[in-house]
Formats: sequence, structure tokens, C-alpha cells
Amino acid sequence: MAADAVIDLTLSAPQVVQSARDRFNEGRTRPLRFRKKQLNGLLEFVKENQNALLEAMHQDLKKPKQEVMVLEIIPFVKDVEHVLNHLDEWAKPEKPRKAMVNWMDGVMVYNDPYGVVLVMGAWNYPLQLTMTPVIGAIAAGNSVVIKPSDLSPATSQLMYDLLPKYLDRECYPVYLGGVKETTELLKERFDYIFYTGGTAVGQIIHKAANRYLTPVTLELGGKSPAYIDASADLDKTVKRVLWGKCINSGQTCVAPDYILCTKEVQDKFVKCAQKVMLEFYGQDIQDSPDYCRIVTDRHFTRLVGLLSGLKVALGGRYEAKDRFIEPTIAIDVSPNHPIMQEEIFGPILPIIPISSVDEAITFINKRDKPLALYIFSTKKRDREKMLKETSSGGVCVNDTIMHIAVEDLPFGGVGQSGMGAYHGSKTFDTFTHKKTVLVKDFQALPEKILASRYPPYSDSKIAFINLGMKERRRLSLKYLPHIIMFLLGAAVTVAVFYLCKYAK
Ligand code: NAD
Repeated sequence: MAADAVIDLTLSAPQVVQSARDRFNEGRTRPLRFRKKQLNGLLEFVKENQNALLEAMHQDLKKPKQEVMVLEIIPFVKDVEHVLNHLDEWAKPEKPRKAMVNWMDGVMVYNDPYGVVLVMGAWNYPLQLTMTPVIGAIAAGNSVVIKPSDLSPATSQLMYDLLPKYLDRECYPVYLGGVKETTELLKERFDYIFYTGGTAVGQIIHKAANRYLTPVTLELGGKSPAYIDASADLDKTVKRVLWGKCINSGQTCVAPDYILCTKEVQDKFVKCAQKVMLEFYGQDIQDSPDYCRIVTDRHFTRLVGLLSGLKVALGGRYEAKDRFIEPTIAIDVSPNHPIMQEEIFGPILPIIPISSVDEAITFINKRDKPLALYIFSTKKRDREKMLKETSSGGVCVNDTIMHIAVEDLPFGGVGQSGMGAYHGSKTFDTFTHKKTVLVKDFQALPEKILASRYPPYSDSKIAFINLGMKERRRLSLKYLPHIIMFLLGAAVTVAVFYLCKYAK
């Protein structure tokens, strides 16, 4: 796809938003053919620039090729393909069940785009966490102002340089910048804001959105616990927990933040973890091409600060000039230690000893609702108990992270970990206003029915309206034999009647 005009890099926030709004108001983003063309453009963008994307993410976070492919590029492609396969079906008006009073009316839900949407991406998975919402917003027929994170500058610059070659540049402008530029952007009026990032900035976004009562999705973070009991297969549990913690050096919103287990399980976990770390990364993790770096000096300093006062059982090395922190397991951690007061978002894994599933539930429920909860257990009753007695954005049993990769399972937080959800068809719904439509005509029969609402009022009119508002049930298949018998009976009766008549 070739660039068709030179992009103006000097547009201010109001100009960018106004231009996107003008295109939306002209109706450019609405036709399904146009939306599909943009989505196909996104497929080409990834196909033609895979190496550049790999290179940019390596520059930003030293991301290994496999993590970029499996956690960014492949899900991106699958997502666009899924949307293209289902867009016709999702976009068409829905026809819900009708009450008797509406049986002659058109009763529909139109799937309307909101208008101009702002998508603010996160730096830790800079392609996926920016573009997954964008894919849904385009599919739903909106204009989109795309704001990649300033903390992943190489990938964001690449998106800024390349996306306009594959997408309509006026309907889907890419806007770069840090706090100052974001603050400017948030002064503008949007019809929907989708933000992925930390809770504190999420509150700023929510406040800015409130000015125009703009609906928002906030994909935030929080401390996601992993509960492990003695019944779990420990070899597999350790691998699954450490993989979830170590990808992207722990900078994953759904990374297991801390472990709750008995002292016995803790000891076994640490022993097994030594073996697993060696298997994953070899003798010197810093030399491994499969391990990322911390995104900024600020986050590096914050994480190293959290190590202070911890009883380190594994790892613990770090190097500032490389922003490297070794995967670190700390044992017997007190719930009052600073590491338990904020989301870690790095490769440090504290273990908090508890003595029972009930204690684990109380521990979790005393804190903010997490984005994810991990339960490692083969005891069905305990699993059910935890599922029923705790609240979290999502739960994954006997694994980490994988629940967010299940097509059409909604992904999102609750309470402090966020509001709203997306993925699969839910992303399309997020950016769609469900518009109620009722169509009546002027024929005599419906008018007779409707007349019961007009004064003078009476008890018989109330009774009639009550009857009319009853839900019309669809005929259940279980009555099919009765209906066939009835029709057959009726046919036989009619046949006998005519036979008798003409036989005379
Ligand atoms: P952050 O929350 O500090 O956000 C950084 C971004 O916000 C930057 O782009 C910055 O320019 C902007 N920003 C900072 N201050 C601002 C202000 N006053 N006004 C406007 N914009 C401002 O990012 P972080 O803390 O480094 O991100 C990590 C957090 O994001 C973690 O909590 C993580 O769990 C969360 N996260 C959540 C998801 C999810 O899908 N739920 C995904 C990724 C990250």
C-alpha cells in the first residue's frame, strides 16, 4: 500500500481531533468495505514490517523474537483475521425477542459507531496493547486517534512513521508525545476513550473524560496473586508461574505478582525454581537472549528499592547501566513490606506464607481487586471456594497468563484493576453504541391495540396492556410432535368431511 500524501507532522491536538471528527461526520469510516480495507491494511502493515517491529521492540525492551512473535505479532494477525471473518455478522442490526404488544413492529438494535475514539496504548506490549483496541474501534466504524506510549519510543515512532501508509491517515491519525502532549489531547472532546496503563494515570484519564461524560474503558493493573497448595503438580506449577513472571521481565499487567502458599510449598517451590531458571536462561541470565530489560531508569530504581529488606532465596543481581534485574524470589515476606503495598511490575516474586485456603481468601479480599487470580490446586472444592469467594478481573486455574489468549473471553479489570473489557467480539461491542430502534406503521389493527394506552383510563385497559406486555415465547421444539399431531388430525378431519360430502 503506498503513501498517498505527505503527513503533516505539525498538527496540534485540536487539529488532529477535528480532522478525525470531520471525516467521521462525512461518513467516511462507516461503510463496511472501507472498514475492511483498513483492517486488511493492518495485516499488510505487520506482514511487510515484521523485522522492523522486531528490531524496534528489541531496542525498547530487548524483547526476544519469540516473545514478540507469540505475544504481539501472531495475536495481532489472528485478531484482525477474526474480526474480518465476523464483521458482517457483528455489524448488522440485531433483532431481539418481542413482547406481544410489539409483534407487528420492527424491533431492532443498530450497532452504531461512537464517533471519534482515543486509544492510549501501553509500552510493555506496545503493538498489541495499542492496536488490539484500534482494530475493534475501526471495525465498529469509528475514527480513531492512536496514541502509542512515549515509554516505548522506537516502536511508537515506527507506528507513527508506518501506520499512515496502511491506514487512512485522516481517520486514524497517530499522535505521539509524553505527559504534556497527553494532557493537551485530553482537553479535547472524544466520544470514547480507551486507556491501558497504571491506576494513577487511569484516574487522570477518568477525570478528563468526565468533563464531557465520555465513556471509558480503563485497562489497569494491580497485584495479581498466585495461590499454590500442596496438591498442585509442583514441577509444572513452578514452570508456569516463572514463565508468567519472567516474560517481558515481569512487566506484564497479568504477571503473577506474589505467591500465597504454606511454608512447606514455599521450600519446594524455591528448590524447583533453581532448576527451572537454569533450564530457561542458562548459567548467566544477563547473557541470555531470551530475557528482557526494565523499561526506564525510573522503574529500575523503583524495583531495586523494593529489594531492600527482603530475604532473597533466588536471584537478586542487578545492573543499572543495562537496566537488568535477575528474576528474584523472596521468601517469608511480610504483608507489611513495601513490595506488598504496590504492583511490582518487574521480575521480583515475593512468597507470603499462609496456612490455609481460607487465609489466602481473607488475604486477597483485604486488598484491591486484582486483574488476575491464579489458583494452582487439584482440589475442586478449594478451587470453587476461591472462585466464589474472591473478586478479580479474571481467573486462570493451574496456569498463568493463558486466559487472556482465549478468543472471545472478555479481558478486563474490576475495581482498582479497571473498568470495561475487550478481546474478540467484545472489542467490537466496546466501541459500539447499541442504538434502540422501534418501527411502527399506521395500520388499523396496531392502532386498536395502541389505543388502550390513551385516556380515558380504565381497569380493563390496564389488564389488556398487562397481557400485551407479556413476553412472546418462541415455540419450543418439545411441542413439535403435538403440533404435527394436531395438523395431521385436522387434515384427517377435513379429508373425512369432504369424502363424506362427495360420497353421498
Ligand atoms: P503509567 O500508568 O505511568 O502511564 C504512563 C503513561 O501515562 C505515559 O505514556 C505517560 O506519558 C502518561 N502519563 C503519565 N502521567 C500523566 C499525566 N499526569 N497525564 C497524562 N498522561 C500521563 O505507566 P506505567 O505505570 O509505567 O505502566 C504500567 C502499568 O500499566 C501497570 O500498572 C500495569 O499493570 C498497567 N498495564 C495494564 C494493562 C492491562 O491490559 N490491564 C496492560 C499493560 C499495563
